[in-house]
Amino acid sequence: MRLVRFEIKGQLRYGILEGDRVRETLRPYVEGIMPMQTVHALADLRLLAPVRPSKMLCIGINYRDHAREMGHTMPDEPVLFMKPASALAGPGHPIVCPRMADRVDHEAELAIVIRRRTRHVSVEEAAASILGYTCFNDVTARDLQSKDGQWTRAKGFDTFGALGPWIETDPGDPNHLAVTCRLNGQVRQKSNTDQLAFNCQFLVAWASRIMTLEPGDVIATGTPSGIGPMKPGDTVEVEIEGIGTLSNPIVSEPDGGSKPSIIL
Ligand code: MG
Repeated sequence: MRLVRFEIKGQLRYGILEGDRVRETLRPYVEGIMPMQTVHALADLRLLAPVRPSKMLCIGINYRDHAREMGHTMPDEPVLFMKPASALAGPGHPIVCPRMADRVDHEAELAIVIRRRTRHVSVEEAAASILGYTCFNDVTARDLQSKDGQWTRAKGFDTFGALGPWIETDPGDPNHLAVTCRLNGQVRQKSNTDQLAFNCQFLVAWASRIMTLEPGDVIATGTPSGIGPMKPGDTVEVEIEGIGTLSNPIVSEPDGGSKPSIIL
């Protein structure tokens, strides 16, 4: 099942994607999926990021080839950082290159979406806490990541957490999905989640030992090798097998700075 969050005629709605149509659900799907009679043409609505998380947990170095390209050794535990909810960008939403940054990189990642409040679950119990999976672009100001020595600014700008286009509740084995990033149609990253050092169920269990995971929270599982810069005018795509493609245009920050993102 593909779950979408969307705007139609200024109203925020949730629904189930059925081909080129969307069936509304009674409530946000994290409260239980209750399909209704109302159906819209996909062309008549605007897809938003499929959830509005309370936090986006991100895993730093989780593919061996990416660790090598960054000059890191593999950690014995996941490297955890967070993006603020204000960094969220939906499918098709522009990713803004901030004036403060010289280099803005793509990082294609599989994202886990949490179904229910979760704390201290085992690896075996973790699957029951997962609503589904979606595509994520962990956009990173690489120069500021090096300069700051920690990653809050480099990864926390508005629009640096691109998420979508929908939540796939059953993409197949989440630890065996092809992950591809294309920049202007050219493949830049190509790997498979079977290369994850710490897999999806482990990450949910491990994170739940640190903090309470809330319904709709996102855990981004890390990026494979091939990261690289994007510039205004580019289009970046993150495609994940069994899920779909998240596409975002890259724009420059306007004179006078960006306005707050329009996220319903
Ligand atoms: Mg990343």
